[in-house]
Amino acid sequence: MVKKDQLERYNLPREIKFCKKCTISNHRPRITFDENGVCSACNYAEFKKKVNWQEREKELVELCNRFRRSDGSHDVIVPASGGKDSSYVAHILKHKYGMNPLTVTWAPLLITDIGRQNWENFIDSGFDNIRATPNGRINRLITKLSFTHLGDPFQPFIYGVTNFPLRVAIEKNISLIMYGENGEVEYGGDMKNAYKPTREITDHNKHYFSGMPPEAWAEYGIKPNDLMYYMAPDFEKIIENKTEIHFMGYYRYWDPQENFNYCLKNTGFQCNTERTEGTYSKYASLDDKLDGVHYYLGFIKFGIGRATSDSAHEIRDGRITREKGIKLVKEYDDEFPSKYFKDFLQYCDVTEEEFWKVVDMWRSDKIWENYMGKWRLRKAVWNE
Ligand SMILES: [Zn+2]
Repeated sequence: MVKKDQLERYNLPREIKFCKKCTISNHRPRITFDENGVCSACNYAEFKKKVNWQEREKELVELCNRFRRSDGSHDVIVPASGGKDSSYVAHILKHKYGMNPLTVTWAPLLITDIGRQNWENFIDSGFDNIRATPNGRINRLITKLSFTHLGDPFQPFIYGVTNFPLRVAIEKNISLIMYGENGEVEYGGDMKNAYKPTREITDHNKHYFSGMPPEAWAEYGIKPNDLMYYMAPDFEKIIENKTEIHFMGYYRYWDPQENFNYCLKNTGFQCNTERTEGTYSKYASLDDKLDGVHYYLGFIKFGIGRATSDSAHEIRDGRITREKGIKLVKEYDDEFPSKYFKDFLQYCDVTEEEFWKVVDMWRSDKIWENYMGKWRLRKAVWNE
């Protein structure tokens, strides 16, 4: 296990700066700040206000016309978890634009009750679905390895949600895959796809796999055969299938709160009865018991927790002020995900001691300082 400095590994600037408009810092990988100290996601949010959405919707109709089938077979793949965003995409494609979606789910690592319920409600609301459940033993093993070696237990899940829809597309001979928002653009990241509807297939490994594609785990004793299910299909097959990956966020104004309202009405979506740990919301990313540790590690590595991401987006959507956002970050960002902590340790087969060892290994001393025996952020949005 070789620890590489975070700043170097993710190519982060040495000096921590916070966006003048939201709560995000320049330590979010791939985010850029303009000369006025405003982040690329905030600038994109401004740009969204000027977009002619009627024109964009026309483009969506044209896209659907290009792929729609009339023989009853599926004509679009929607990667769907049963969460508010993917459910919204599947539902409007089917009911507003007359498409026949095949929804595709990669099973969460350790599903929560509410996650299972929402997924079932979604299917019951009227969708065909293919669900992939990978080998449990291997899934746990890669989760543990990626927790230790990448500081993020979510890697096997990210492989699945990224690559499995591509596999199904080829198997079922469906060329269109429709995702929700382009996270890189909406939340800050690589802006090269900001002004077009599609994602380039060749970007996959670069953006999502932190330089560790599935096959890289063979080095840690996992048989190549056991890694197959996580891998992308052959590039030639993707091209041969004329596969296109599009984002609904390009065609329709993307607002997570509106998606939530839509799904309450249309897909049987339910939010949690309690607030999600590490943030103040009840409706986002609530289907995996390992979510909490995934976000907590992001907080350790980049100083960016869940409340930062949520508040930054809500500020951009004009739902809260920056002052309010800063308060929420101060209150919730550093909250430890204790609810499913025992489940996490058991799932990964690590002791509590080993857990903290890994956490501290990923704690950059450029971001953190030890003060009177306790770790604290050198610079936070509330003490700029
Ligand atoms: Zn910003």
